[in-house]
Amino acid sequence: MATQRILDFLATRRPDGPCLVVDLDVVRDNYLAFEKALPDSRIFYAVKANPAPEILRLLASLGSSFDTASVAEIEMALDAGAAPARISYGNTIKKERDVARAHELGIRLFAVDCVEEVDKIARRAPGARVFCRVLTDGAGAEWPLSRKFGCAPAMAVDVLRHAKSLGLDAHGVSFHVGSQQTDLDAWDRALADAQWVFGTLAEEGITLKMVNMGGGFPTRYLRDVPAAQAYGQAIFSALRKHFGNRIPETIIEPGRGMVGNAGVIKSEVVLISRKAENDNVRWVYLDIGKFGGLAETMDEAIRYPFVTPRDGGETAPCVLAGPTCDSADVLYEKTPYPLPLALTIGDEVLIEGTGAYTTTYASVAFNGFEPLKAYVI
Ligand SMILES: *Cc1c(COP(=O)(O)O)cnc(C)c1O
Repeated sequence: MATQRILDFLATRRPDGPCLVVDLDVVRDNYLAFEKALPDSRIFYAVKANPAPEILRLLASLGSSFDTASVAEIEMALDAGAAPARISYGNTIKKERDVARAHELGIRLFAVDCVEEVDKIARRAPGARVFCRVLTDGAGAEWPLSRKFGCAPAMAVDVLRHAKSLGLDAHGVSFHVGSQQTDLDAWDRALADAQWVFGTLAEEGITLKMVNMGGGFPTRYLRDVPAAQAYGQAIFSALRKHFGNRIPETIIEPGRGMVGNAGVIKSEVVLISRKAENDNVRWVYLDIGKFGGLAETMDEAIRYPFVTPRDGGETAPCVLAGPTCDSADVLYEKTPYPLPLALTIGDEVLIEGTGAYTTTYASVAFNGFEPLKAYVI
């Protein structure tokens, strides 16, 4: 939603060109809602969702920890004031020299999903804590993370046993139920797998301590989503069901759910046209597209809400496209988007729910278009 602060900022500053405006008050509210919904879990904000220094500083000051994917993200979290003990290196795919660099910076918590990665960590971050990511099917998620990360639970047992044999701290299990996950049961299925890994290793005398329950918490796009409180309840019941009264330490890693609804992109209609006189679908070209930060419209996966100055009047379906000379730069075509018939070239359009996964996805200079500008207020 465009908050009053965002609307006031746009009205007074009138920034030129497409830009993202993020309201820090909304980020703060989201953080506090997660803290309240899951009071026993530590929050590791997924830095990749939006690494703006103002956001990282605010979250660091509220007590958040950080999930990072690279040495550069680790340095951003440190610069924002997070102590190394509050930072995890959560990418399962790391160069060995980056593991060494992270270790030098004080990082002691690493994700793995295979014995090869464990070997790197044992060599370059001796004694560190590792957690093994298990695969989930991503069912119910609008942006599933597929099979790229994680291993089967049976393999996670081998991976953690291997870590222990190399002197690492076999700390726990992680999973990610898929991003924009609206099925509250997704955590239940993943926690069943996590508990099986805990139980199997316990029989060998290896005691795991932590479950990293990942991200996936949704933000509101066109449809309402359950509130953080509903997720907290579902997750807590699943933890009780699978772990009884021996619930381990838990972590959550919200990205989208922390910043998605805090940001709005201001865009402009560059052109409205038709492909034939009798076409009833108009083509609406904006000054932002897939290469300007809206990469998550890939396969039309994420459908953003659009607010125009002509809302309220009669609408008709439009194909929405970006301004670049690449034919892949179309946002919605398979499922056209209803927009007001009165929409006019030059109109300012607000794209809501764009606080996550936009600025850093923008190309550096495709067709000479600058990366997406961002204002954090
Ligand atoms: C991307 C990612 C997240 C954040 O996911 P959201 O769906 O945006 O909450 C959390 N953890 C890991 C390991 C990730 O890769």
